Amino acid sequence: MSAIARKTLRTPSALAAAQLVARDRLKPLQEVAARYAVAITPALADLIDPSDPHDPIARQFVPDARELHMEPGESHDPIGDDAHSPVEGIVHRYPDRVLLKLVNACAVYCRFCFRREMVGPGRGGLAPAALDQALAYVENHPEIWEVILTGGDPLVLSARRLKEVVTRLAAIAHVKVIRVHTRVPVAAPERVTAALVRALRTSKATFVVLHANHPRELTAKVRATCARFIDAGIPMLAQSVLLRGVNDDAETLGALLRALVESRIKPYYLHHADLAPGTAHLRTTIAEGQALMRALHGRTSGLCQPTYVVDIPGGHGKSPIGPNYLSADGAVIEDYCGRLHAYAAMASAAEKNTVVSNS
Ligand code: SF4
Repeated sequence: MSAIARKTLRTPSALAAAQLVARDRLKPLQEVAARYAVAITPALADLIDPSDPHDPIARQFVPDARELHMEPGESHDPIGDDAHSPVEGIVHRYPDRVLLKLVNACAVYCRFCFRREMVGPGRGGLAPAALDQALAYVENHPEIWEVILTGGDPLVLSARRLKEVVTRLAAIAHVKVIRVHTRVPVAAPERVTAALVRALRTSKATFVVLHANHPRELTAKVRATCARFIDAGIPMLAQSVLLRGVNDDAETLGALLRALVESRIKPYYLHHADLAPGTAHLRTTIAEGQALMRALHGRTSGLCQPTYVVDIPGGHGKSPIGPNYLSADGAVIEDYCGRLHAYAAMASAAEKNTVVSNS
């Protein structure tokens, strides 16, 4: 067991000893921990202010008794992975790309995780024969242009294991892009060694997508860790989950998005929180999310703007959910200050001119 793994807080009693939960909350939290995995690494524990009952880092990782209540509409497989899994480890939801789930463990366990029923310590990963079968599936489907390593968190694997998988993927001619989804640079930056960065370098375009939700997660150490990937020629993107009490105000979300871009990490998706069981207290409404995107539009550089998306329950994929600035008939468009402008008349005049000058 590594030093990081040893110091990771994995039980409500350990959280109480670290003063992250009150001892009188232990009983319900033990029930939560029996159902959903708990892990808070030293890097994240250090970011929590135990005196703040609303601490946004604690809210993401410290278990809460409300997780025991499943709301109508919540689902054990909220994004429908199972419906699109032709072989173990593969999710083939869209024609040109697949998820390859190498491992079911993570460095930390997020309380809002959309795969919370599938991830946890000791849940293992793809056995060698299953990995062979998953790679054979990719090889036998020439329409697969991109492979996304996810999990769990693929960067909990050793550099040697990652190198083996990435090398085998890169050898498949029709796979042009490899993407790695991870929370490790934030949760356990020590894991990002020179060997691990080298393991991800291949002849194919490789992107690392960081999961980060609050600006405090981007410490100097985390930024330096991400710079290792970027300086090695591995561009980084970010995905964030919109969470009540964590980043659901324009100031915090704007600070997160700016901090990412300052770290040369392009915000990619802002996910509306999925209908994972026991997570209602962390979800916003879509209207609140759209209002936040409006608040950021025009006041935050375009580089900082992610696409706000929801995963359609049942496995139907992601769709952007706005907001929309053009009226349904295309006649009126709204600017970033909320002022309305006639658009259709100007656009059709310009189109006519284009036709005349091209003829
Ligand atoms: S790191 Fe990702 S897969 Fe792991 S618990 Fe968090 S959201 Fe779930």
